[in-house]
Amino acid sequence: DQSLCAPLGVLGSDVTVPLVTGGEVVYAALDYAASAPALQRVWDDVAAYAPYYGSVHRGAGYLSQLSTDLFENARRTVSEFLGCRADDQVVFTRSTTDSLNLLAAALPADCQVFVFETEHHASLLPWRDARVSFLDAPRTPGEAVATLERALADRDPYGPALVCVTGASNVTGELWPVRELAAAAHAHGARIVLDAAQLAPHHPVSVQELDVDWVAFSGHKLYAPFGSGVLAGRSDWLRAAQPYLAGGGASRKVARREDGGVDVEWHESAARHEAGSPNVIGAYSIASACKALTEAGFDTLVARERRLIATVREGLAEVPEVRVLSLFGDDAPRVGVISFVVEGWNSSHFAAALSAEYGIGVRDGLFCAHPLVRTLLGGTPQTQGECGAPEAAPGEKSLNAIRVSFGAGTPDEHVERFVRAVK
Ligand code: PMP
Repeated sequence: DQSLCAPLGVLGSDVTVPLVTGGEVVYAALDYAASAPALQRVWDDVAAYAPYYGSVHRGAGYLSQLSTDLFENARRTVSEFLGCRADDQVVFTRSTTDSLNLLAAALPADCQVFVFETEHHASLLPWRDARVSFLDAPRTPGEAVATLERALADRDPYGPALVCVTGASNVTGELWPVRELAAAAHAHGARIVLDAAQLAPHHPVSVQELDVDWVAFSGHKLYAPFGSGVLAGRSDWLRAAQPYLAGGGASRKVARREDGGVDVEWHESAARHEAGSPNVIGAYSIASACKALTEAGFDTLVARERRLIATVREGLAEVPEVRVLSLFGDDAPRVGVISFVVEGWNSSHFAAALSAEYGIGVRDGLFCAHPLVRTLLGGTPQTQGECGAPEAAPGEKSLNAIRVSFGAGTPDEHVERFVRAVK
């Protein structure tokens, strides 16, 4: 029931936009997979804190102490939200991309990395300095596990290894069998990092229940503002690694040596990878979003989202020209992220028409997942602009796709308008 989600209060739900056909309409933000609108509760918390903020870990004054407390409490809130183990670390980063690059920089020497070609570029590309095996796109969740098992069975069994997998695809919305993949990784002595950028806003993610070694997610997809993200998980690799950024806050002791150089003792805590003045507003807003989602209850959110998914999928199924993109088939469990192409339409023009004529904001393009979109479209997509929409002449065959995505607080009317507009 929509009223169950109303207390979450999603911002921007009363923004009106002009239509080319005349008049104006309430903007339907259906691009949550790119960035979800922040929750009113998050903005309220940030606004209430704004007069009080000061530097974190860097001041004796009351406001610095308060900010340091809020920052460290935010770490605890995130740790609880993710069901972390007692000795896990929660590192605040800028985003999922930043989190995965941090982990890539912390890999032990000679680490082998296994990653499906279907991943978002943020999961696919950071491992460039390691020995990477790209795994073929599976067509069922079971095939994903079998493919990983085979790849791991062939690996050098004595060296360290990492599997990187996304929990929910940013293209198809399909859920990946994370628990089974984690079990396969561990059975072969490998570790696993979960890219939860698309999963965490829609489903509870528990490090311990899924038995994953690390989780990464972004605040701006979890109903908090831009600029903050999280890498949470095992502390050993993070403690052993060189600091991701070198600078103040990451170092415990710095002293000039007799020979003119500098000796540095780095922190072993999360601060090791958080050099520079921490983004306390970012961490605080992520914690606020975690609390709001927990209080609203994922059961409620999931049930309501399922209904919206059904509305969209059933509506699209009535349009013969529409082809919904899927790797695992119609029955696969999924979050509210649905990509499709429309025969006879260029996807960019289609998305532009949804915006200009109906006030609906969707995404078009290749979604920073070129190999996956290539597999799903069965061709070579145009790749002008890595994540964005390639240009194509009117009527030209669509080589990119349209993505509609939604979540907590999306009004029924927005998805209903979307379905009517596509029809
Ligand atoms: N992974 C997935 C599955 C994503 O959808 C995204 C964002 N589209 C990212 C990683 C990267 O997130 P960010 O841009 O916030 O770093």
